[in-house]
Amino acid sequence: MRDPLDVIVIGGGSAGLSALREVMKRTQHFVVINDGPWGTMCARVGCMPSKALIAAANAFDARRDFQDLGISGANGLSLDVPAVLRRVRSLRDEFVAGNLDVTEGLGERAITGRARLLSVDRVRVNGLELRARRIIIATGSTPIVPKPWLPLGERLLTTDTLFEQETLPNRIAVVGQGALGVELAQALRRLGLDVVALGETKTVAGLTDPEVNAVAVEALRRELPVHLGDKAELSSQAAGVRVRAGHTDVVVDGVLVALGRRPNLEGLGLDALGIELDADGVPNVDTRTMQAGSLPVFLVGDANGESAVLHEASDDGHIAGLNATGKTFECFRRRAPLTIVFSEPNIAMAGKRFAELDVAQVLIGEARFEHQGRARIAQRNSGMLRVYSDRHSGLVLGAELCAPAGEHLAHLLALAIERALTVSDLLRMPFYHPVFEEGLRTALRQLSAHSPASKDSDLARCTE
Ligand SMILES: Cc1cc2nc3c(=O)[nH]c(=O)nc-3n(C[C@H](O)[C@H](O)[C@H](O)COP(=O)(O)OP(=O)(O)OC[C@H]3O[C@@H](n4cnc5c(N)ncnc54)[C@H](O)[C@@H]3O)c2cc1C
Repeated sequence: MRDPLDVIVIGGGSAGLSALREVMKRTQHFVVINDGPWGTMCARVGCMPSKALIAAANAFDARRDFQDLGISGANGLSLDVPAVLRRVRSLRDEFVAGNLDVTEGLGERAITGRARLLSVDRVRVNGLELRARRIIIATGSTPIVPKPWLPLGERLLTTDTLFEQETLPNRIAVVGQGALGVELAQALRRLGLDVVALGETKTVAGLTDPEVNAVAVEALRRELPVHLGDKAELSSQAAGVRVRAGHTDVVVDGVLVALGRRPNLEGLGLDALGIELDADGVPNVDTRTMQAGSLPVFLVGDANGESAVLHEASDDGHIAGLNATGKTFECFRRRAPLTIVFSEPNIAMAGKRFAELDVAQVLIGEARFEHQGRARIAQRNSGMLRVYSDRHSGLVLGAELCAPAGEHLAHLLALAIERALTVSDLLRMPFYHPVFEEGLRTALRQLSAHSPASKDSDLARCTE
């Protein structure tokens, strides 16, 4: 192995592998170090197993509409939780195997061990000291579990352990109603468990628009009890775990803790870099170059505490991989923000969030899905979409929604924002009939009607 190496990548998750793909194209003098199992958190215990669980839950839940659709026999259907979990793990294994391909064949350049920084160009792992011109830190994040809850032992689940269970407790509390808490509380309920969901704030899934939030909370509460606005306290009891929050006082068999994730920076030796760290121990990172301060060190993915979604982690890694092997540190424009929560209806945010807007400078167009034709046909007629545009220019700035097929609507809106399209640009798009996207057209037409540049037609007039 050459000394110094060109690059050391610490962390073999999605951000680290994305960085590695760029590094491998440009040099062979690198190592990637990963603590624990390889294959990425997303594939092992994150995006993929959670979506596999949700798919089974939604498939089973569809039976509730069968009678109305003219299909009989729904009452005879049953769900085998251990079989669902076996399928989740089997799919998980396939996704993990796909990611292992990236590091297979790297030999001594893929090191399993816990790395510690010794300086801006030195790393220790398994008693070995390595030097490199550039270091990419991609150490990911860990579920936050309050220390006093640890004695609850196996009754306490996180997303690290949930998918490993042979079966699931009958009565379960999901504490935390961010994206993961919302997705999993609803899925567990749809799998037939007795679920209570608790969130400390009044908002769910990261929504900041109070109107969309109210619609999302109402949709969730149609399926399960959701207690918001009080901090949960847990205590052990012979019959299970007692969960108290405000007026809620229940005993459950298990608790899924979904209180967010903390960057894996503890014990990494960031202090050895001689760089200023914030109160959470995170250095300042330029998300256009991924550089930490002015060092030849890059901090990417969940580890930098920025957005904690997969496509951003991959982009972080891509940028760091290019810059760690380039002559200069290049600056990259980031994509329009996009977050999707795979609840039903989907919850999503594209572009600027409501809380980031100067309300005096924007117009808001909205659509509800109760009466929308396609949504009624599909028995998915609930939800709301709110689109924000610049009051003067008509530029589409952002959207928050809790809507059927929201994952697709949000992508369309993200593209519009990315391309700096105006409301009238978007209205020129064909809207097939009957599709969920007609809800988007309703919101856009509302915006158009209130815009100073309002037009009497969605169509552009011929110029000749
Ligand atoms: C349940 C769940 C569902 C999710 N669903 C979605 C979704 O639907 N869509 C979406 O976009 N995002 C989703 N996410 C978020 C997404 O999975 C993460 O943003 C992404 O996987 C982060 O990748 P990463 O490379 O930063 O971290 P990781 O993949 O966690 O990689 C970090 C690696 O670094 C290793 N490491 C840590 N410390 C050290 C050290 N000192 N030395 C060496 N190695 C170290 C770790 O062991 C780990 O292997 C979900 C997350 C969870 C938990």
